[in-house]
Amino acid sequence: MKIDTVEAIPLAIPYRRPFGFASGRVTAADHVLVQITTDDGLVGHGEAPPRPYTYGETAASIVAAVRDLFAPVLVGADPFARERIRADLDRTVANNAAKGAIDVALWDLVGQACGQPVHVLLGHAADDVRAAHMIGLGTPEEMVADACEVRDDHGVDAFKIKVGRELGVDMAAVRALRAELGDAVELYADANRGWDADTAIVASRRLADHGVSMLEEPNPAADVLGRRRIVAASPIPVVGDESTITLGGVARSLLDGDTEAISVKVARTGFTDSAKIVGLCEGLGVTTVIGNQIDGMLSTVASVALGCGLRALARHPVEVTNYLLMADDVLADPPVIVDGRISARQEPGLGATIDPGKLAHYRLA
Ligand SMILES: [Mg+2]
Repeated sequence: MKIDTVEAIPLAIPYRRPFGFASGRVTAADHVLVQITTDDGLVGHGEAPPRPYTYGETAASIVAAVRDLFAPVLVGADPFARERIRADLDRTVANNAAKGAIDVALWDLVGQACGQPVHVLLGHAADDVRAAHMIGLGTPEEMVADACEVRDDHGVDAFKIKVGRELGVDMAAVRALRAELGDAVELYADANRGWDADTAIVASRRLADHGVSMLEEPNPAADVLGRRRIVAASPIPVVGDESTITLGGVARSLLDGDTEAISVKVARTGFTDSAKIVGLCEGLGVTTVIGNQIDGMLSTVASVALGCGLRALARHPVEVTNYLLMADDVLADPPVIVDGRISARQEPGLGATIDPGKLAHYRLA
């Protein structure tokens, strides 16, 4: 089996409502669909969500990187040779979302060729995972309404609260959420580097008082001594996300004492490097959780496959609900969250069929 064509298709899909966080805001899904075909007629897909405020990539840069840098390396290659392909792709630095989408599309092809779903190829730790919902910034009333909608409609009982604003504003939202949702739900927080170290230390104690279990990216990790002071003082684990986006970066961050748990995202490290990061952390006794890059439906399906594939990830709620913000998407068969859980797909590969009519409607010229 050889790769025949590689396409990067920019999409524009409206959101039902915008999503805000300390480092940015999204109002529409300007994702790029990566579509790889093989000489024996298989078609694999991956989805690259551009996040310029985190990684510097835009939809246009992802399209250019795939078309000009990565497609020439991929055409003619064997999709099973993911390690060789990864080494070739890594001759270009960064471009995490573009590389992540390519890796997901390769695993989709491998799964189809083997007649096995990706989560089974990864290790089949579980058939489904608990869903977590990420609550974007808003007034306490808006954030409570958002959480209640997902709880009531989908049975979700794990929530990541976006914080990183003025501490009084954030804590008002945390108090309101805990009061409304009760003590049984799992709450954790993500500041997206919005605080300085002193604020984050105070915040970590207040969050712990409300039973918030983890604090993600409290300050810029490049503020090295400040981050270490937070880790030393915080009663809850400090999670690395956008500061820990490569295997070596995760190792360095853990060894330097910048983080105590790691968020992995299929949208930036695909399946191959995500699995390596999870293995590294498992060996060190470090918790890994699956985060959400404000994923569309295809990346959501991929995240569930990763979570159901690896035991260390299947233990924790997986952030899967951001596709609910989208008014539509290009998948023929949208994800379904029932009683707070989401199941891995049983079809070979990702099991995600693209609807040709929707693709024609939402693709940009
Ligand atoms: Mg995060």
